[in-house]
Amino acid sequence: MNQEVYKEILSEIPENVQLIAVSKTKPNSEVEAAYALGQRHFGENWAQEVKQKQEDLPKDICWHFIGHLQTNKIKYIIPFVHLIHSIDSFKLLMEVNKLAQKHQRIVGCLLQFHVATEETKFGFSMDECLEMLQDPRFSELKNVEIRGIMGMASLTDDQTQIHHDFHQLHDYFHLMTEKFFANQDSFKEISMGMTDDYKIAIEEGSTMIRVGSAIFGKRNYANK
Ligand SMILES: *Cc1c(COP(=O)(O)O)cnc(C)c1O
Repeated sequence: MNQEVYKEILSEIPENVQLIAVSKTKPNSEVEAAYALGQRHFGENWAQEVKQKQEDLPKDICWHFIGHLQTNKIKYIIPFVHLIHSIDSFKLLMEVNKLAQKHQRIVGCLLQFHVATEETKFGFSMDECLEMLQDPRFSELKNVEIRGIMGMASLTDDQTQIHHDFHQLHDYFHLMTEKFFANQDSFKEISMGMTDDYKIAIEEGSTMIRVGSAIFGKRNYANK
């Protein structure tokens, strides 16, 4: 890992912003190096990979699941996951609730919104999300706790566009807070910002940044 960059990021982000170190594809030794510097919150994208890391590594690590989650993989992460950032459908949320109930857990979740210009990114539109929040079945979910929202900006160098995308997420967060979560103090997170855009995300109100390659170096996807 790059200790210098890690320390620099920690020193420059505001106190109310949490750094999630994204360790996907990286070996346990890299997680241990960051752990030795005090890092406890790590982000992962693949269910089997994070399950294995959770078994191998210190148990006080908080594992954040940030990748697209398939319903048949939920079972691997449900016993220990700290926060699922990537709830992108009502169906997925209901399945997470079902398994969380089985494990007698209340699992923290963020609702992922699609705001980027690319077609391929996962996530709710505002309309889809409103439909879910107004569905009577939503209020029956007792084993998930919605703690905020997550999103990604467009893949572009255009700073104005990136500001625009994060601003939109921030607007969504406020709208949802007012309309649905006004009485729930735990609805407070906006997970946005990665290596290339976390500074803009913080300017636009991020409370959780998910930074991988700046800390751990470029990833090799050959074995994924
Ligand atoms: C991989 C990933 C990150 C980290 O990306 P970097 O550009 O390496 O910082 C953050 N969020 C999500 C959802 C990711 O998949």
